[in-house]
Amino acid sequence: MNNKVVLKVKGLTKIFKEGKDSLEVLKGIDLEVEEGVSVAIVGTSGSGKSTLLQCLGALDTFDAGSVEIDGENIADLSEKQRTQMRNRKLGFVYQFHHLLPEFTSLENTAMPLKIRRVPAAEAQKRAEHLLAAMGLEERVDHLPSQLSGGERQRVAIARAVCGSPVCLLADEPTGNLDRETAVSVFDYLVRLTRDEKLTLIIVTHDPELAARCDRIYRLKAGRLIAEK
Ligand code: ADP
Ligand code: MG
Repeated sequence: MNNKVVLKVKGLTKIFKEGKDSLEVLKGIDLEVEEGVSVAIVGTSGSGKSTLLQCLGALDTFDAGSVEIDGENIADLSEKQRTQMRNRKLGFVYQFHHLLPEFTSLENTAMPLKIRRVPAAEAQKRAEHLLAAMGLEERVDHLPSQLSGGERQRVAIARAVCGSPVCLLADEPTGNLDRETAVSVFDYLVRLTRDEKLTLIIVTHDPELAARCDRIYRLKAGRLIAEK
């Protein structure tokens, strides 16, 4: 396996301040993840999992430490460069799919390439390939309202992967699904990121799903503890 480090986090500290009160949610997180590796982050509700992903995804600021993605330190980037980093190097999947309701699976999936002005035929080919890899070849021309919950999440995953990010950040992507569907969607996700050689950071509170990743960390009292 290629062991280029894609994500390098050092001493990441995040404090929420509200008036006189302050809550140190992340107390010096250190993490290094190589290309193509999948990492599950587990932890109780309120332990800071979403906050950690927001910091890794350059969607929230932090108070100390550094986050390097593909050799670029987020803290050194301007707001414009951060947006570029999110669009080119990162993919996001959430508990809710955030698909555009008036667009088909294919159009939603190809969106990251359309924004980058990739020629339509090329974008379509890539989107079709990813939808097929997610088992959705029969759902390419459907609107989100015509899909099941699991299918919508699979489209959201295809879309997040379409722009070939180096790192995919997924926050409880199967949290809204029944057990059986969650397992199926999770397996599709892990398989696709492996095929695409993406680094995957996935938050889940389900230990059985986490076990499907290469590594597991528990976020507890602001620190990461390796479990696998
Ligand atoms: P998790 O995703 O593990 O459930 P979160 O990262 O959402 O946890 O939240 C971690 C802690 O930080 C919680 O105590 C939460 O209330 C607090 N928190 C999250 N976002 C904010 C915010 N914007 N302002 C103040 N406190 C916040
Ligand atoms: Mg959360």
